[in-house]
Amino acid sequence: MKESATIGMSRMARELKAQGAPIISLSLGEPDFDTPQFIMDGARVGMEEGYTHYPPIPGYMDLREAISDKLSSENGVSYGPEQIVVSTGAKQTIANIMLCLLDPGDKVVILSPYWVSYYDIVQMAGGQQVIVEGKLEDEYKVDPQKLDEAMSPDVKAVIFSSPSNPTGSLYTTDELREFSKVFAKYPDTLILSDEIYEYIVFEGEHQSISQFPEVRNNVVIINGMSKGFAMTGWRIGYMAGPEWLAKACTKMQGQLTSGAASISQRASLTALKGPREEVSMMRETFRKRRDLVYEGLSKIEGFDTYLPKGAFYMLPGISKLIGRATPEGEEIKDATDFCMYLLKNANVSTVTGLAFGAPDTFRISFAASNEELNDAIQRISAAVRELK
Ligand code: PMP
Ligand code: GLU
Repeated sequence: MKESATIGMSRMARELKAQGAPIISLSLGEPDFDTPQFIMDGARVGMEEGYTHYPPIPGYMDLREAISDKLSSENGVSYGPEQIVVSTGAKQTIANIMLCLLDPGDKVVILSPYWVSYYDIVQMAGGQQVIVEGKLEDEYKVDPQKLDEAMSPDVKAVIFSSPSNPTGSLYTTDELREFSKVFAKYPDTLILSDEIYEYIVFEGEHQSISQFPEVRNNVVIINGMSKGFAMTGWRIGYMAGPEWLAKACTKMQGQLTSGAASISQRASLTALKGPREEVSMMRETFRKRRDLVYEGLSKIEGFDTYLPKGAFYMLPGISKLIGRATPEGEEIKDATDFCMYLLKNANVSTVTGLAFGAPDTFRISFAASNEELNDAIQRISAAVRELK
């Protein structure tokens, strides 16, 4: 297995920073806000109430009920607590599902550009990735026709995120309806809909494929607390899907972790039951940063850009820069070389598109302050101008 590229690049940035380099880190997809105070209070109350013991493996019943209520009131879909499993981050949720589902060689269709860990988790579970590519000119969204061509009855699962990491693209209701028509032909395929960026949407509304009755029973919603509530360190994610899968994931995590941390679960219950003002405030801040980054990067000659509709990422195309040379005379052979050039010459850390199945692109996370973003744009612009 490889080290996760998002985590690897962030580690490298941290190490350089520790050595004194003035690094601006735009590699890790993590809100820079601290967790809202009322959520932290929920954790403290939880500890005082004695929630310090092993939790039930799939999560506390009141938390699973709160997730069920959230799915019904905000997403209009009904999943009972017995269909929900709370895990140590959405990353473990996805790993649980793949480990439960896949036998060696089983196919998983991954919509590309994809979040780096989809690919590697499928690998770890012994599955075989089938990549369906969305193109930059279509805001990286996958054509339903191409999806149809990639599907077959032996595909065990399909996975995608909307809003998307790494592109920030958002599928509309009509686009998801087209997908659901394709999926309806494959009743044995699970549709893993990663909705972890649901609250970070700038244009239109987040839509879930679970709303379509023809696929509803095969949809597994993946979500978590990390992004919308700025709770990355608490490590809470969840799935809502068929009961048989929830049972299997419970068995899996009973062997792996004995369930997610009790105190984090109490904080998550407070978060889900609480107001969404801070969630909205963070979204509006991300929107301003999105505008700033879009405007700044669109002016850089050699970058192909588009307007991300959600999440906090942009994945500019850099095909025009491949083959150029650095001032030191080294050829930029691919996106990884480009990112290393930015890291060394501009002190800005980003992530190579190769990690997301999108060669000739790089990912920039705009979960950073306006000051850092402005500075980073200037540094990137200067570094690109120096390429020969
Ligand atoms: N899915 C996507 C698309 C993500 O970007 C992330 C963030 N790393 C995750 C899942 C996992 O999030 P976490 O494990 O923090 O809940
Ligand atoms: N999802 C974030 C990212 O893509 C966090 C790091 C990770 O878990 O990969 O950068």
